[in-house]
Amino acid sequence: MNGYAVRRIRRRARRSIYKGFLVTALIFLIVSVIVMTAKMLSFSISGNLFHQFKSIELPAMLSGTKTADLDHGWNLILVNSKNRIPGDYEAELIQLSNGKQVDERIYPELQEMFDAARADGLHLFVSEGYRTREEQQLLLDEKTEAYEMEGHSKSEAEKLAKQWVAVPGFSEHQLGIAVDINADHAGSTDDEVYTWLAENSWQYGFIKRYPSDKTEITGTINEPWHYRYVGKEAAREIVSQEVCLEEYVEMLE
Ligand SMILES: [Zn+2]
Repeated sequence: MNGYAVRRIRRRARRSIYKGFLVTALIFLIVSVIVMTAKMLSFSISGNLFHQFKSIELPAMLSGTKTADLDHGWNLILVNSKNRIPGDYEAELIQLSNGKQVDERIYPELQEMFDAARADGLHLFVSEGYRTREEQQLLLDEKTEAYEMEGHSKSEAEKLAKQWVAVPGFSEHQLGIAVDINADHAGSTDDEVYTWLAENSWQYGFIKRYPSDKTEITGTINEPWHYRYVGKEAAREIVSQEVCLEEYVEMLE
């Protein structure tokens, strides 16, 4: 190879490096513009809402989600990965003896259910009630970090975490009308508590929100501890017709 050919090859190599740089810069610029626009519009990127602009609501087509409505009453509001809690939603909170908070409208029946379970010899407690948006975000961050520690990439870890923890704005816990109920292991096993709840909670207006055979509809993996207040009438219907809340609400429309 003579000197001329080498120079030509070098020049070509420089040109392609220069081209590559230009393309990268262009892609970076386009992505930046999209991200900035999305931020301003409160668009959901990989599920994270930029909540500083949460009062602006996007058409469902853009974000793939819509704002949950109260058409069937506060007790039948449908919140899941596609239906977000309205920005102006306000829970009416009351504090339980262990410091957890729930909406005061569900308190009488929650207490009634706990009295009945305890009368049947069970030892149980509300391990989670109302959560603020910030607490929900913290949970999601912690779960994501745990998956990253296991060696998953950031985006993989986020995806996996979201199978377990709802994105802020999309968790029933932010409503204050859902509770996680667990066994006090000194007196009961988890199985004993979960079985009792699955059989009896409807009588007090609560439903097992994420049954194992409805995962495809609810989008949430079986959670035997997560109970949602819907009121006695709806709970009876939901249990007798073997439907989940998504299906029940659709039946009402
Ligand atoms: Zn829960």
